[in-house]
Amino acid sequence: MAGIVVVFDFDKTIIDVDSDNWVVDNLGFTELFERLLPTMPWNTLMDTMMGELHAAGKTLGDVAEVLRAAPIDPRVPAAIKAAYALGCDLRVLSDANAFFIETVLEHHGIRGCFSQINTNPSHVDADGRLRIGPYHAAPHGCGVGTCPPNMCKGLVLDRILREAAAGTTGRSTKRVIYLGDGRGDYCPSLRLAREDFMMPRRGYPVWDLIREDPARVQAEVHPWADGADLEETLLRLVGRALVEEAALPPPLDCKLESTMPVAAQDGGMPIMPLGVKN
Ligand SMILES: [Mg+2]
Ligand SMILES: [Zn+2]
Repeated sequence: MAGIVVVFDFDKTIIDVDSDNWVVDNLGFTELFERLLPTMPWNTLMDTMMGELHAAGKTLGDVAEVLRAAPIDPRVPAAIKAAYALGCDLRVLSDANAFFIETVLEHHGIRGCFSQINTNPSHVDADGRLRIGPYHAAPHGCGVGTCPPNMCKGLVLDRILREAAAGTTGRSTKRVIYLGDGRGDYCPSLRLAREDFMMPRRGYPVWDLIREDPARVQAEVHPWADGADLEETLLRLVGRALVEEAALPPPLDCKLESTMPVAAQDGGMPIMPLGVKN
């Protein structure tokens, strides 16, 4: 396996919509959702909404059917399959829930590409109602300010990297490519190292947060706008990481890298088209 871990957010990254909103809207519960939204945290609200759907006679099968129809750019599953075939270790890191994510990934035939799905736990209770819980049962204590109370993706990323490093022989660290769009993806982007890659969705909240103070992100920032852009950018970065991994002995990685002009390895593509990082 290559020394590359690719971490994907789910909503508006793998699929093109927010799965929570998609389910609520398509089952006709938008109004109730919006009425309850100011009264409780999002994660608690989704568990509550599953209770409301169940009480109104909507089955788990109805929820799954709606999820299978969620818009996805065909280039995204193609990119995921290609990165997997190149030996990358793929993970999902999402503030949706296990049932929603599993249902969508299975439907598109890409569940097997991911070694891990890190998300809010879900289970079906005795009445056939989906229960959704928080990822962190206790306060996570992250001070970044953009993480919801139920999940700090930065803390989860740290654990993923510790586990990945523990399973490695030879190299002690894995190179990370992180893809996401939301506010919750900002905290993990701050924890990436210089040799890692951050792929924020252009024009979405994490992109705006990164642009507010570009110096806070050490990783190279490579924005993307749509599925084709995601595929092209991801596979270019994977290719570059594989070439560098093959060419450089592990202890010299950092030193040599810093002396190599990035543009020359990157097909001349501008790395920071909007001055994200100086
Ligand atoms: Mg998202
Ligand atoms: Zn955090």
